[in-house]
Amino acid sequence: MSDNNYEIAIVGGGPAGITAALYAGRSRVKTIVLERGAVGGQLWNTADIDDYPGLSMQTGPEVAQKFEEHAKKFGAEFEFGTVSKISKQGDEFVIETDEGEEYRALSVIVTVGGEARKLGVPGEQELAGAGVSYCAVCDGAFFQDKTIAVVGGGDSALEEGAFLTRYGSKVYLVHRRDEFRASPVLVEHFDATGKTEKILNSVVEEIVGDGKVTGLRVKNNETGEVSEIAVDAVFPFVGFTPHSDIFEDGLVETDEGGHILTDAKMETKTPGLFAAGDVRSQYVRQITNAVGDATTAALAAAAHVEAAKRTKATA
Ligand SMILES: Cc1cc2nc3c(=O)[nH]c(=O)nc-3n(C[C@H](O)[C@H](O)[C@H](O)COP(=O)(O)OP(=O)(O)OC[C@H]3O[C@@H](n4cnc5c(N)ncnc54)[C@H](O)[C@@H]3O)c2cc1C
Repeated sequence: MSDNNYEIAIVGGGPAGITAALYAGRSRVKTIVLERGAVGGQLWNTADIDDYPGLSMQTGPEVAQKFEEHAKKFGAEFEFGTVSKISKQGDEFVIETDEGEEYRALSVIVTVGGEARKLGVPGEQELAGAGVSYCAVCDGAFFQDKTIAVVGGGDSALEEGAFLTRYGSKVYLVHRRDEFRASPVLVEHFDATGKTEKILNSVVEEIVGDGKVTGLRVKNNETGEVSEIAVDAVFPFVGFTPHSDIFEDGLVETDEGGHILTDAKMETKTPGLFAAGDVRSQYVRQITNAVGDATTAALAAAAHVEAAKRTKATA
């Protein structure tokens, strides 16, 4: 097998990719992980993790490092690379990167996750990095004793909002409904900090500021009333867009949100091509189910590789 030929290629090195690497390595299958940034994926953007069995209240970066060290023990190679295209030639997949490399593999596990969805309001893009942030753990400390607004009503908004009370003197939560998708325990935790105020049934119309964020224009859905609240920072946590645009036409099917559809083995419509973690169409997006998906995908991919090798040997 030449240098860039592998049995399994894993695209993305977040919790799903790391877990797939661990299981593929333990299956003694020649495996490469291609990651375009820091191994650990969204763990680097997560403040505290308190919902992964055995890892109580550890920081995302701590968990990322532990995951990476553990996976590397079993022999998978990790390479830097931004995958731009995955296509199929005969019984092999061809993986091309922005850096000009080409890899071939009998099976591919795609674990590329997604990225923060934007609010799409005036001021958001202009003030990004000047008070608008999508990462509480990265930027929260810049807003010590300041007023912060978090936008959204899911787990991330409530969890990261509670984290931001460590820094901010006050944290608003702006949410378009009066009920939450977030777990009740996270809502209770957010309220219990004593530094928060919820602005419900309301949408952000504009992030205001000149060079830095100074406020938020918010419209109440029920009354139509528009008000401005003075804030120094805005953290939108309103979901994300999956990175599922790297495939040759026809290789995968997606749901309406762009998440990849798989069967129970995590296999896409193309035999040998698997998807796991946040990029996959599913009900929840958590570390626990990303690693569960990846376990299934890696073992199914290893079985696919064995079957493909047997077919080649008898051909
Ligand atoms: C702010 C925040 C807080 C969270 N808190 C928790 C929590 O407390 N508990 C919990 O269980 N879950 C939490 N989550 C969710 C959890 O982080 C994700 O479910 C999990 O990281 C998904 O893992 P993944 O491997 O599928 O994707 P990701 O973690 O997104 O990893 C994908 C990886 O693929 C890489 N990649 C993308 N495109 C390419 C490409 N073209 N080429 C090469 N590499 C590529 C990315 O750089 C990234 O490293 C949180 C998420 C966020 C955003």
